[in-house]
Amino acid sequence: MENVVRDEQSMEEEATLVVHMYIDGQWVEGAAGETRDIVNPANGRTIATAVEGTAEDAGRAIQAAKRAFYTTWWDTPAIERAKLLFDVARKLEERGDEFAKTETLNNGKPLREAIFDVYDTISCFKYYAGLATKPHGQTYEVPDPQQAMVVREPIGVCGQIVPWNYPLMMAAWKLAPALAAGNTVVFKPSELTPLSAVKLFEIFEEVGFPRGVVNLVLGAGATVGQEIAASHDVDKVAFTGGTATGRKIMEASLGNLKKVSLELGGKSPNVVFADADFDTAVDYALFGIFANQGQVCSAGSRLLLEESIHDAFIEALIKKAKTIQVGPGLDQRSQMGPLISEAHMEKVLRYIEIGKQEGATLVHGGKRITEGKLKDGYFVEPTIFTNTRPDMRIVQEEIFGPVLAIQTFKSEEEAIHLANDTIYGLAGAVFTNDVSRAFRVVKRIRAGITWINSYHPTYNEAPWGGYKQSGHGRELGTFGYEAYTEVKQINNNLKVEPIGWFD
Ligand code: NAD
Repeated sequence: MENVVRDEQSMEEEATLVVHMYIDGQWVEGAAGETRDIVNPANGRTIATAVEGTAEDAGRAIQAAKRAFYTTWWDTPAIERAKLLFDVARKLEERGDEFAKTETLNNGKPLREAIFDVYDTISCFKYYAGLATKPHGQTYEVPDPQQAMVVREPIGVCGQIVPWNYPLMMAAWKLAPALAAGNTVVFKPSELTPLSAVKLFEIFEEVGFPRGVVNLVLGAGATVGQEIAASHDVDKVAFTGGTATGRKIMEASLGNLKKVSLELGGKSPNVVFADADFDTAVDYALFGIFANQGQVCSAGSRLLLEESIHDAFIEALIKKAKTIQVGPGLDQRSQMGPLISEAHMEKVLRYIEIGKQEGATLVHGGKRITEGKLKDGYFVEPTIFTNTRPDMRIVQEEIFGPVLAIQTFKSEEEAIHLANDTIYGLAGAVFTNDVSRAFRVVKRIRAGITWINSYHPTYNEAPWGGYKQSGHGRELGTFGYEAYTEVKQINNNLKVEPIGWFD
C-alpha cells in the first residue's frame, strides 16, 4: 500500500495518491472506507487523498498502544529508545529537502520557513534522544533506617492532537518527548495537513519502532480527536490548537481524569518603547505578525507603540510591508504564502471587515489577492490597523492571520496594562535599550514566553506554553519531558524487623 509520494511534482500530477493510517504496525484504511481530499492552499488543487479515520479506528489504535506499552515498550531500556529517536533524526536529515517541500505544498508556508521547521524537528528528536539517558529522579535524606527516592516513569498511552500551522514541528514536539520518556502514542495530525506526519511515520516504521508503540490516526477532531480525548484507555492527552477546542478536550477527558496538557491560542503583545533600536523593532514587528502568514499561536498580533514614535514607526512599517512578496511557498521569491484553507481565509477577511466596522483605521492591505497565478489560492495581503481601542474584537480575539492591530501607550504602566488586557497569555516582547525597564516590563507581562529586543525565537531546550487561557502545562526542554512522566516515590527499609506498634 503506497503512502506519500516522494516529490512535489508527482504529488501535483497524481491527485489519486492515497495516504493511510499507521495502526499497530500496519498501514490501514479507515473502518468506514471514507476519504478526504488534501488541498494545496496555494492553488486549491487536490494533492492527495487521505483515508478518513473514525472513532472505531482511534479505538483500535488506542488498544494497540495499550498492548505495546504493557508488553514491550515499558521494559525497553532508555538507551534503545534513544537510539530509535537518533535514527529518526538521521533519516529526517537524509530526507530534509523532501519533508520541507511536502510541508510547503500542504501548509502553504514559504519554503525557507519549512526548511527551518525541518531543522527544528531534527533538533527536537536529537534533544529528546539525548535526554532519555540523562539522570532523572531524586534521592532524599530521610531518618534511618529508611531510604527514599523518586523515579520518573512513563504515563502510559498518550493521545496527541495537533493543528495545521506547524504540522511537522508540532508532531516532533509531541512525539519525541513522549517516546523518549517511554510512553506509547496515538497521534492525530490536523485533517488539513496530514502529509508530513505520514512521512514521519514511514520513518518510524523504517527505523523499527516495535508494533503498536507509534500509531497514526487521520481524520476529524469531532470523531477521532474526541475519541482520543474521551477514551478511558488513554492516560494522557496532549493537545495543541484553539482555546475553544482545548476546552472541549478538557471536558472530554474528565471520564477517567486523564492527564491533560494544552497549548492554545494567543493575542500576544509586542511592546516598543521610544528608546528602542528603531530599525530592529520595525523588522521584528513585521516578522512577529507576518511569519507563517500570521498563523502562529505566539504571533505578535498586537503592536503597542509609545506615543512619541507612533507615526514614524507606522510609516516605516508600511514602507516595509509593501515590499513583502506574497506568493506560492514553493517559489523561492515568496516571503508570505497563502492561508491554510478557503474557510480560514474567509474568517480572516471577516475579521478585517469587523475591524473596519469597529472604527479602526486600515492603513495597509486588507484584501484577498486575486491577481494572476494567485487567484485560486487563499492569499491575503499583509494587513495593518491603527486607531484601535482595547475593547475592539480585532484587539481581543485571535485572528490567526496576517492582521496587525496597533495600540498606543503613554507610560510604562499603561503599556503593561494594555499588554495584559486579553484572556490570553502565551507570549510577549519588549523593545527598549533600557535594560532595567526591559526586565521590569517582562516580569509584569503575564505570559509564558517572552523576548527582549527580539520576537519568535524558540528552542527545543527551553519550555513553551502559556498563562491564562493560552494553555495548561509546558512543552519542550526538561519541562516537556517531565510532562510525559509520572513521579513515583520509592521507600526502602534498611532494618527489616517488626516495629512492634501493636505489641
Ligand atoms: P483547532 O483547535 O481547530 O484544531 C486542532 C486539532 O484539534 C486538529 O487536529 C483538530 O482536528 C482537533 N480537534 C478539533 N475539534 C476537536 C475535538 N472536539 N476534540 C478533539 N480534537 C479536536 O485548531 P487549528 O485551527 O487546527 O489551529 C489553530 C489554533 O492552534 C490557534 O488557536 C493557535 O493559536 C493554536 N496553536 C497553539 C500553539 C501553542 O503552542 N500554544 C501552537 C500552534 C497552534
